[in-house]
Amino acid sequence: MPTGALPDAEFPKPVDTSPPGGYQGVFSRRMDTERTAQGTAGEIPSPDMKVVEEMQQGIVAGFLDVQQAKAEGKPVVWTSVLLPREIFQAMDVAAVYGNVLGSYASIFGLSAKYCQLAEESGLSRDVCAVHRCMLGLAVCDEREELFDLAFAKPDIAIGSNFPCMSESKSFLLVADRYRLPTYFVDTPLGPGGRGRPAPDHAVAYYVAQLRGMIDFLVSHGHRFDMERLKEEVAFTKALNTLFEEIDRYKMAVPLPIKAYDNVIAATAPLVLPKRLRTMAIFERLRDELRERVEKGVGVVPDEKLRLLWIGMPPLCDFKLLDYPERRGAVVAKSMLEFLTGFNLDPRLMDPEKPLESIARAQLASPANPPLGAMIDYFVQATKDYRIDGVVSVVKRTCGIIPGIQRLNKEAIREATGVPSIVFDLDGVDAREYDAAATKASLDAFIDVLLARKGAA
Ligand code: SF4
Repeated sequence: MPTGALPDAEFPKPVDTSPPGGYQGVFSRRMDTERTAQGTAGEIPSPDMKVVEEMQQGIVAGFLDVQQAKAEGKPVVWTSVLLPREIFQAMDVAAVYGNVLGSYASIFGLSAKYCQLAEESGLSRDVCAVHRCMLGLAVCDEREELFDLAFAKPDIAIGSNFPCMSESKSFLLVADRYRLPTYFVDTPLGPGGRGRPAPDHAVAYYVAQLRGMIDFLVSHGHRFDMERLKEEVAFTKALNTLFEEIDRYKMAVPLPIKAYDNVIAATAPLVLPKRLRTMAIFERLRDELRERVEKGVGVVPDEKLRLLWIGMPPLCDFKLLDYPERRGAVVAKSMLEFLTGFNLDPRLMDPEKPLESIARAQLASPANPPLGAMIDYFVQATKDYRIDGVVSVVKRTCGIIPGIQRLNKEAIREATGVPSIVFDLDGVDAREYDAAATKASLDAFIDVLLARKGAA
């Protein structure tokens, strides 16, 4: 494999790009500004667990690392957070993850502004709202403080079609805007069922795609060291083994972790910067969860119902996931957790064959179409998390998930007898979000579930 191009000596000395008050200050200011703007304290969720709060601050710190890299003259890459993290870590790639920025823009109440900007740049309102948020953010000239820190003008762009086609088109708009060299990682279809191995020809093809990405990065100033990649794969294997243990605590009744904490904790392995992505922080998460489970601490005092949320949660109103709690119902599992690196099966990862391991595990991920593995995953989650009802939401602008909601519903009903409700909900573009209708749908479903359990 090729090795690196730019020796360290060619980079200027590091400069301090920290914002006043550090990154924690930025996050707090952003929270305060939004709360004031919305006029309702607490609209933007805060983590409940201390260790998760630390993870959230660490994610914001990772945004700032990109500014540091830019100031040092290192090439910044515009890409997707769902491309193999291990390769970017091993090559010290400073990346702007567009899909993470787009999601955060919605969480911070800025989706209407950035979707509008993307549409004014020529995007149809039918394009996925996550991508419109991120493209509006990428192409505009002025951003809020947090996003000014999170965004750096990229030097190269890497696109992919994992898990959906939106990314494969949207990254071209950024490349066009900044006239960037591009590389595209084509991900073949998965085996179509949980536990089935990816075919060898697909693994070989995907390894070649990843090698091409590495060559592209090397040709733009990054360096590659196979030993470092082996270390990263070994880390992911250990981390994902730990996450299996964490997941067992999360299955406990009563539920020990709130929905928002769950999403942050599950996203952290993908987006924490390397220096903060340690085993220690995830071991603390496990220990805090274990303590809660042993003491019987739940997110509601009298848990009556456990829900599984399939489809994009309402990012622009994340607190909605807490709404059922007033009636003793908890969202025990949501689909956002499911997109993270946790789904790289540690049993498929051999650090001595790092690229092949990544390819085998990612192709077999439930997030990889044709989505048979995703349906199997939700059936299993319904059993493992002792789910009473499934909330399946249809985001109009998503090109994948709406198409399998009925299949999910039927598969879960057949395997477990657990009912689902399916309804429209675009919770990313605030202009299309209807909180009252969503709450009415949830209330009606909870009524049915409580009656069904005889617990009304
Ligand atoms: S899977 Fe759906 S919601 Fe997610 S990025 Fe693709 S189109 Fe958007």
